[in-house]
Amino acid sequence: SRRNVLITGCSSGIGLALAVKMAKDEERRFKVYATMRNLAKKGPLEEAVGRRLGKTLEIKQLDVCDEQSIKTCVNSIPDRRIDVLVSNAGMGLIGPIECQTIDEMKTVMDTNFFGLVRLLKEILPDMKRRKSGHIVIISSVMGIQGILFNDVYAASKFAVEGFCESLAIQALKFKLQLSLIEPGPVITEFEKKVFEDGMKMDLSAADKETAEMFTNIYLKNYKQIFQSLGQSAEDVAEHTVKVILSENPPFRHQTNTLYTPMTTLKYADPNGDLPIDIFYKMVFHHDKIFSASLNFIKLLRWRSRRSFDLGKVSQ
Ligand code: NAD
Repeated sequence: SRRNVLITGCSSGIGLALAVKMAKDEERRFKVYATMRNLAKKGPLEEAVGRRLGKTLEIKQLDVCDEQSIKTCVNSIPDRRIDVLVSNAGMGLIGPIECQTIDEMKTVMDTNFFGLVRLLKEILPDMKRRKSGHIVIISSVMGIQGILFNDVYAASKFAVEGFCESLAIQALKFKLQLSLIEPGPVITEFEKKVFEDGMKMDLSAADKETAEMFTNIYLKNYKQIFQSLGQSAEDVAEHTVKVILSENPPFRHQTNTLYTPMTTLKYADPNGDLPIDIFYKMVFHHDKIFSASLNFIKLLRWRSRRSFDLGKVSQ
């Protein structure tokens, strides 16, 4: 039977790509409730989904920072039945913490972490009662390993991961599934907006060395990292659908095999120094090591055209 899927943050990027992919499923296995904070931004989604609009996909308002909007949206779904929840809405923040306000940081935590918590407070009790449901969270590789000048964003994704690790144990008891999707860099509005905000940032509160580090090292290499490692939103959506259709969905799934070596460093050294040393060398000796890593990545990319395997996909 058809599964009801609620996705947040569908006006752009991964949310939009996933909503369209699921709505266009040839076997019509899904009814998609594609939600967004601002319905004035529904144009691109409507256009991409075409004649399936109103059939396999409906657009609804939902702001993950507003409990009432979540409640109203869930109440408008027949029997409040959500079989698959995709918590995707999120935002980035880069730069030296000296140049960010606590309010800006709180908005990131409120969206990326408390957004998920608010959704679950509304949806989890129904799933537990029915003893069925799949909670899918678009996390990030930065939920496993932090990166220079992404301190608060990484913290928000770590919060998501810790929360889910804890919840997954309870979920198992109720026969619910929980999956964290961990993309590396994805080329979406997110990346553009974060970069533009970084370029506009008032760096006067930071010392000269930090400001230069941010401008001349971080921002200078930003585009190159996305160009060499970046995935498309459609690619992440494809991985996510495979996880949703999988008979035994994994708790964690990284969508970018090129990034995986950088997250496994963490488990190779119990002291935690190895990933920090490697990232330090990549960033500060980038003339040699950074370009060598990029060449290595290009080689890997050439070698890894193979598709990924998630085991058996249920029909
Ligand atoms: P995006 O900016 O295109 O999409 C994020 C969406 O969330 C936007 O449509 C935005 O309007 C929406 N949103 C923001 N605040 C909201 C709120 N309060 N309520 C409802 N919607 C809200 O970027 P994306 O790359 O598609 O991001 C989707 C998810 O993927 C995010 O959780 C992000 O952290 C994660 N992610 C992105 C990347 C990347 O490099 N782009 C990498 C790893 C993980």
